[in-house]
Amino acid sequence: MSRVRQILDMNAFDASAGGGGAVKRRLDNLGAASVLFYREPIEMVAARGAWMEARDGTRYLDFYNNVPSVGHSHPEVVAAISAQVARLNTNTRYLVGIVDDYLEALKDKLPADLANVVMTCSGSEANDLAIRIARAVSGRTGFIVTETAYHGNTALVTEASPSALKRSPLPGHVVTVPAPENAAYGDDIAEGFRAAVVAAMKALEARGHGTAAFLADSIFSSDGIFADPAGFLRPAVQAVQEAGGLFVADEVQPGFGRTGDAFWGYERHGIAPDIVTMGKPMGNGFPMAGMAARPEHLAMFCEDVGYFNTFGGNPVAAAAGLAVLKVIAQEGLQENARRVGAHLKAGLSQVAAGSDRVTQMRGAGLFLGIDLGTKDGSGAEDAGYTVQVIDRMRAAGVLIGAAGRYGATLKVRPPLCLNMAEADRFIEAFEKAVRG
Ligand code: PMP
Repeated sequence: MSRVRQILDMNAFDASAGGGGAVKRRLDNLGAASVLFYREPIEMVAARGAWMEARDGTRYLDFYNNVPSVGHSHPEVVAAISAQVARLNTNTRYLVGIVDDYLEALKDKLPADLANVVMTCSGSEANDLAIRIARAVSGRTGFIVTETAYHGNTALVTEASPSALKRSPLPGHVVTVPAPENAAYGDDIAEGFRAAVVAAMKALEARGHGTAAFLADSIFSSDGIFADPAGFLRPAVQAVQEAGGLFVADEVQPGFGRTGDAFWGYERHGIAPDIVTMGKPMGNGFPMAGMAARPEHLAMFCEDVGYFNTFGGNPVAAAAGLAVLKVIAQEGLQENARRVGAHLKAGLSQVAAGSDRVTQMRGAGLFLGIDLGTKDGSGAEDAGYTVQVIDRMRAAGVLIGAAGRYGATLKVRPPLCLNMAEADRFIEAFEKAVRG
């Protein structure tokens, strides 16, 4: 029986094993909250495009990190941040043109009815605010999330992040539904998922909470990446909205073109979210995030409490965000994600067909999930083998992470600037890694 894994536990350095040098220094400074990738952590010194460079001179192809989405240290983003920080950086209580320039550019990408954007510094803060707004608007307190969801680290959001909880059970106001996969719902994922969400609404009703919102990452990253068939989310979302609940689209992972098919992940499903939250790739590494909502919803929330975020939406964040949007358009990165992602998927499918260890492959654009199973061919998840493959890939100069309920899904998530040769390099390394 596979063990359910906590999200930060996947492919992580085991602090109880101790260590010397830079590892000891890190553990002494960060203590129990320190999370390091790999059994043998890597000390990084530089990065550019899809490549990272370690202290010992090794260059790694980065298939892990979805933050520097337009490429590590993109010169245009670096120049925009540098110029703005040298000119003016302050909070949003002054009128600074670049902040509104950014908000308008971002709103151009969003549905017209979500006309207000609150800028924050992290995806967690954006989701925290979304949860509070959903409660204020619906007058209810319950939330539906998927079984292995991760939505952030504030107290409120941790309660709606089953994959972050180590020991505590979920609180009564949070009900989970299995991830949208065939294993849970058979062939008709749309109908199965809708029925599960409706049952969750009933459970919240029976507990006296009611459904304030269904909160979902439309590519289901921490659940193991479930993208298809596009449109499967629609019946579940409609059921929630018809019952007076909100749908919060957590776009922290699929947003900003990653799926190739659309700028936002929810667009692939033909749904109209009530709130959109975003973060990670938004500033290409500059810490910024945001939440878009209807003006009347935000106004309802603000009648009760004020909201101010000192660093949220500062002029440097606006400069970074504006440069990211410009680069995505200029370099055709959404289209690149679609094109190179399709090439990558096709190559990996070939490898999968020849390997009894690869049990399934899924995904959209430059976000794929590859399930790895036990040697006996039974299809059972093999988290231990997944770590082995991750380590073999690292030895071959490729960085990749794990996801899923049991940590047996490889999370293939390179920067959107990935080129065909880099995709081929990954396919080759993967082929060698799953040979043993
Ligand atoms: N939502 C999702 C889907 C995420 O993956 C994450 C971060 N992994 C968050 C929210 C939280 O974002 P942050 O770490 O910026 O607070």
